[in-house]
Amino acid sequence: MSKQLVILGATGSIGSSTLKVIRENPQSFSLFGVTGGKNLATMLDICREFSPQYALMADEASNHKLREAIKAESLKVEVPSGDKAIAELVKASEVELVMAAIVGAAGLLPTLAAVEAGKTVLLANKEALVMSGAIFMEAARKSGAQVLPVDSEHNAIFQCMPEQVQQQLGYCDLSNAGVSKILLTGSGGPFRYNDLDSLSSVTPAQACAHPNWSMGQKISVDSATMMNKGLEYIEAKRLFNTQPNQIDVIIHPQSIIHSMVQYCDGSVLAQMGQPDMATPIAHVMAYPQRQVSGVEALDFFSIGELSFMPPDYAKYPCLKLAIDACYDSQTATTCLNAANEVAVEAFLAERIKFTQIAEVVATCLDKQSYMGAETELSVLLEVDQRARMHADAAVKRICA
Ligand code: NAD
Ligand code: MG
Repeated sequence: MSKQLVILGATGSIGSSTLKVIRENPQSFSLFGVTGGKNLATMLDICREFSPQYALMADEASNHKLREAIKAESLKVEVPSGDKAIAELVKASEVELVMAAIVGAAGLLPTLAAVEAGKTVLLANKEALVMSGAIFMEAARKSGAQVLPVDSEHNAIFQCMPEQVQQQLGYCDLSNAGVSKILLTGSGGPFRYNDLDSLSSVTPAQACAHPNWSMGQKISVDSATMMNKGLEYIEAKRLFNTQPNQIDVIIHPQSIIHSMVQYCDGSVLAQMGQPDMATPIAHVMAYPQRQVSGVEALDFFSIGELSFMPPDYAKYPCLKLAIDACYDSQTATTCLNAANEVAVEAFLAERIKFTQIAEVVATCLDKQSYMGAETELSVLLEVDQRARMHADAAVKRICA
């Protein structure tokens, strides 16, 4: 029997890698529903090729155009609308797997709806965990939803963990499982060999040209500032319930090792592969089985050398801000995430310099004040909104 799947963010980079894995395994999956933001042309192509039962765009005007286009081509795809349409889609009883691949805080509520409905949630949207990790993992524990990490590092860590940890994400006890540390690797982004002084003049196009991975714009900029590794540090803490000093960040420029787990007996397990998201996506879609992904096997003779370096916080201040926020509170990580989204957008629009992304985030973290219990979603959504206002104001001050 094929598994029914919903892809949230089907028109993006992770969405397209997910569709690639479905093409490799057409008997195993059928597409129940797909959602996108504004990219109508890509969504129409998906509808023509995969005939999902439902397709919808989060942007109301784009959704209207999608409905018209589907009618004009007599495609058998329904286009629901309304605020609750996405939540209803992921909660449908037919649905087994939900790929959460919307970028940014916009992905939180639909992903949380899938968790609350007890689905198997394939989690790419790391910002959801950064914002609301404790609530998110608690909701999964309550509903029995299995959360499977798609982010390549977390997927690698997951694969290197014993089954008892895999089955208890969010509340596992690493020491009990014999794990001493998670070794979180990152390429260091396109500027890893640049001097500190040159960073203030780099362009959005240079920041988006990642040396190893092809990804959406926001995460590409996050990789260049290493905010991405910072968000992943927080993501790892939430998924694997780490204690302080149980995560080390290691720069590994070749992106062949996707992260490692160190055990108390001195063993270190690593997951390796091509830097292609189809591998972790195929893994979570088939878990606990394995399936083909269309990705070529590694050729060790052509790789040559693997190298490793410690991160330099002077060069990557965003990484330090994220690690500090991680040990502060969930309101701090929510604030960090929201301020970063605003700052990255301003950098992409060439309103602020690359090095000012960290300045904007730091200003917002200084300004944040605590508004009550950390475990309430409404509080976190309010912190998110306030941080965006502060970040907007900080960007305007810089531009003035
Ligand atoms: P992307 O920008 O390529 O795609 C984002 C998707 O979300 C698109 O379908 C877009 O239409 C949709 N979207 C954007 N704004 C929306 C909104 N307001 N409401 C609803 N939908 C909206 O991004 P991506 O690179 O595919 O990344 C998706 C997520 O996966 C991010 O959280 C990212 O951090 C994570 N991730 C990506 C990669 C990668 O290789 N691309 C790797 C690891 C993790
Ligand atoms: Mg990653």
